[in-house]
Amino acid sequence: TISTATFAAWLREYARLVGENESVLTDLDAAIGDADHGANMTRGMAAVVAYLDGLGGDDALAEVSPATMLGKAGMTLVSTVGGASGPLYGTFLMRTGQACGDAPELDATTLATALRAGIEGVQARGKATTGEKTMLDALVPAVEAFDGGQGDLVAALDAATSAADAGRDATTDLTATKGRASYLGERSVGHQDPGATSAALLIAALHTAVA
Ligand code: ADP
Ligand code: MG
Ligand code: MG
Repeated sequence: TISTATFAAWLREYARLVGENESVLTDLDAAIGDADHGANMTRGMAAVVAYLDGLGGDDALAEVSPATMLGKAGMTLVSTVGGASGPLYGTFLMRTGQACGDAPELDATTLATALRAGIEGVQARGKATTGEKTMLDALVPAVEAFDGGQGDLVAALDAATSAADAGRDATTDLTATKGRASYLGERSVGHQDPGATSAALLIAALHTAVA
């Protein structure tokens, strides 16, 4: 099952992956945006890790619900990232947390429901849908594939990770119609979306933390 400690391990692994890929994310954003996605995500996730460090070890985490921890981590992202990605990823974590209710632990089915709520939050906040060359092109297929795991966490996360990677790769051929990249119109074609790239890392980090 998935506890607050598992979610904390997810966010720590995501911070590590974002740091490792900072220049990749920056270079992708340099091509179709303003070259700050790597810095935005690194700064935001460093603040989330600082929040987690302040909570303490696994014993202390057991006293905090997933909903509370994810909510505060999401608020941390919103308040430390100035770009579009901070409020969007922050909303994702806050809405995922809210959907956990007061459950101390989740299983594959309740995790799928929570993640779906998180993505609906991103869609509502950003007024975007799939096919617009955004993080949703990795997140939405990931959650859809997750449901195909039929309650088996490892199978679900294997499927979700592959789907997120495929969704990320498919953004290269899309025209951006949301966010800064939309200013380029058809000139955004041929470039992989930075937010879809960081979103695929988010799913990969969940896989590493859970499976
Ligand atoms: P900014 O564009 O403000 O500099 P970032 O560079 O950190 O912010 O993030 C850019 C990423 O945010 C894009 O690559 C895209 O994936 C994502 N994004 C932008 N607008 C939206 C939106 N309305 N809905 C979903 N994702 C979006
Ligand atoms: Mg940017
Ligand atoms: Mg910016």
